Amino acid sequence: MLIVQKFGGSSVANAERVFNVAGIITEKYKEGNDVVVVVSAQGDTTDDLIEKAKEINPKASRREMDMLLAAGEQISIALLAMAIEKLGYPVVSLLGWQAGFNTNSTYGSARIKRIDTERIKAELDKKKIVIVAGFQGINRFGDITTLGRGGSDTSAVAIAAAMHADLCQIYTDVDGVYTADPRLVKNAFKLDEITYDEMLELATLGAQVLNNRSVELAKKYNIELEVLSSFTKVPGTKVKEATKMEKMLIKGVAKDTNVARVMLVGIPDVPGVAFQIFSRLAKAHINVDIILQSVGRDNTKDITFTVASDKGEEAVAAIREYAEKVGAKSLSYDSNVAKISIVGAGMETHEGVAARMFEALGDAGINIQMISTSEIKISVLIDAADADRAVQVVHSAFFDIPNSF
Ligand code: ASP
Ligand code: MG
Repeated sequence: MLIVQKFGGSSVANAERVFNVAGIITEKYKEGNDVVVVVSAQGDTTDDLIEKAKEINPKASRREMDMLLAAGEQISIALLAMAIEKLGYPVVSLLGWQAGFNTNSTYGSARIKRIDTERIKAELDKKKIVIVAGFQGINRFGDITTLGRGGSDTSAVAIAAAMHADLCQIYTDVDGVYTADPRLVKNAFKLDEITYDEMLELATLGAQVLNNRSVELAKKYNIELEVLSSFTKVPGTKVKEATKMEKMLIKGVAKDTNVARVMLVGIPDVPGVAFQIFSRLAKAHINVDIILQSVGRDNTKDITFTVASDKGEEAVAAIREYAEKVGAKSLSYDSNVAKISIVGAGMETHEGVAARMFEALGDAGINIQMISTSEIKISVLIDAADADRAVQVVHSAFFDIPNSF
């Protein structure tokens, strides 16, 4: 079998952990498998490097930032390879470019265009364990690029796809995907399986287990992922296409506090207004999530929408001039909000899911400010102060009462 294993920064944070990971890798190798390993930078290395850059030049070019940040993974691959050498196994570490990662030139969030796998294959043919630096590649100018924060997951899935791996294991510091944050919800439990689409919704909703792009890539190439812990020897969660009939109505409850609500009150109730507003936001590269427009009254209406919390001020700035021009009554933003979401492919075919969620919130006296839905997700915007309690009561509404049908 060809196995791709990825280890996150916390899994290789110190010497003891590096040896622990070396043990996991060599165990698979001993069984006769080809093993390609992708590693992230140790612990907080990437954050520390960003701090170092800020001390020198807070406006450093993206090219130089990538040059700097790629160094974190160079350290971890070499140390991990040394640990494997010490255990007595053949191993080679490769930087992104050596492993054939060709990306576009968008420094800081480069996209993988192609992986030339010859070098990896040649090393595997020599019976070596191959350790690849995650998160990085090279562009057509021969410059180092990085894939964006958390990009090592994507590196791993991309290698698994390019090499047609039999298994892609993502090792992290949690032992799988839970129905809610276990620190918040006592009886949250680990899921055996989750579909790509459900995982994508949970990833965007702030369940920080897997990087979004890695899940998109896994879905595109139908790579089955297994999320598991490098600290415990228990089975993890499989992320895959839905195979058997979905037994669970919903798979999880997520909380996202990185959200701000922008309110535009008393704008003219005439055609084209929404376009004027949202085109200005698009031009300013501000992503809008939930949008709510009131019914017109006395020829005016209100538009409310959400953005990432650090974009609230920018969003207001982007539309202020227009709002003043058309005589809006007020324009403001509020970051004391949170988005609580439930995700599950089961809701596609079952009614009453939204009602059950709203009932739980209502019973707990939690007011819903905005609602948005997709086929497999229902999100509500509430006061940030209620967020943790909301996760608890919604989780209990779906999981304490039998969740199957
Ligand atoms: N070291 C990089 C980061 O911290 C990439 C990764 O961890 O996946 O964002
Ligand atoms: Mg990291």
